[in-house]
Amino acid sequence: MTLGWSLQPLLLRQIVRKRYSVLLPLPQLRGSPARLAPSLHLSAPRHRTAGVNMDLEAAAAAAACAPRAPASGAQKRIDYTGLPKVELHVHMDGACRVDTLRKLSRQHQLDYPHDDEEEFKKRIMLLSPATSLAQFLEVFGAIGDILCTKEAVERVAYEYCEELGRQNVVYFELRHNPMGKKMEPEQYVEGVMAGLERGEKDFGVKSRQILIFIRGKPEDADKVLELALKYRPRGVVGVDIAGNELLPLDPIQTQALLAARANGLHLTMHAGESGPPDNVRQAIEEFGAERIGHGYRVLEDEAIYKLAREKNVHFEACLTSSIFTNSQKELESHAVKRWALDGTSFSLSTDDPGVIGNDLLTEYRAASQEVGLTKEQLVKSVLDGVAAAFLPGNEKEQLLRKVKAGIAEWEKSILF
Ligand SMILES: [Zn+2]
Repeated sequence: MTLGWSLQPLLLRQIVRKRYSVLLPLPQLRGSPARLAPSLHLSAPRHRTAGVNMDLEAAAAAAACAPRAPASGAQKRIDYTGLPKVELHVHMDGACRVDTLRKLSRQHQLDYPHDDEEEFKKRIMLLSPATSLAQFLEVFGAIGDILCTKEAVERVAYEYCEELGRQNVVYFELRHNPMGKKMEPEQYVEGVMAGLERGEKDFGVKSRQILIFIRGKPEDADKVLELALKYRPRGVVGVDIAGNELLPLDPIQTQALLAARANGLHLTMHAGESGPPDNVRQAIEEFGAERIGHGYRVLEDEAIYKLAREKNVHFEACLTSSIFTNSQKELESHAVKRWALDGTSFSLSTDDPGVIGNDLLTEYRAASQEVGLTKEQLVKSVLDGVAAAFLPGNEKEQLLRKVKAGIAEWEKSILF
């Protein structure tokens, strides 16, 4: 999920419906979003739609407390906090602490309601039903506005390392599009880099950067490629393309993506989220993408799914985000279930935790309790994530050893 989502009016209406269904009283709660809401701590804003006067916070609290039948195939409750994890798909502007953004807004005297926490959240999180594409763009626009200095960018990246350390994440890749920010793109990349380096030192969480091309913005392609190559020796390991999947790739972007691959950068591509399965095929066959961001819709075309499996392409799955964008209808029948059954390579990520209010722990809980993935399947997903990390062989082996040792410790700890 990115600033460049393909949020067509119809999709937006679907999201609105989804969001409202999260907030309906218990007897009407249906499907996974309703179950998801309590576990994800989705706050329930007071409904302002005419004709619905219920207190939604009370309804959500009731939903959280009420006994619920486990999802079919749900696993016994296991605490995944101690499981060493990796995160391969998270966006920089979607990974900010609310409190930090408030402080930065205040510090720079920006025109946001930073003295009122609830009002501020409405500006930088997607907590209430969106009624237009403009609302989504406003959220990411506001975050971009507030991250107005290199120091601010560094701080957010550093704090995300701290967050992930708390969740026992040992390696992650942070992605962003450095163009169109309130600073030179070089400063943005260097700010992220400084935050990640300091974060690794203080919290022991290793990380790398991925730079993003945005569909519909071919004018930025050459610069993004230039930056990716320039900063490759300092932690930029790959490139991605995000944005409206229904927009065709511009020839300039095609060239830049191919040049990135030819110059040894790794490639992941947002595909098969809101766009058709053929976008997954294109990513694999035409660009040699090693990983696919989301990719759920690959299951609509068995031939393309077979191709992805044959090429051992890794899928970066973001459960909450996929429900949020309506790219998956419900967790019980989520694409990861089939992937896990087939032994397809995938791992779990948060996508935009600061904006949608999740973290990796809630993602693992949802995968276990709602999707019904087993402990073995989730452990395999971590190992798949390590194998798909954009690290050189020796660093990957080192990471694998660390993760395996951590898994052994964690397995002992959950026996009791
Ligand atoms: Zn994404």
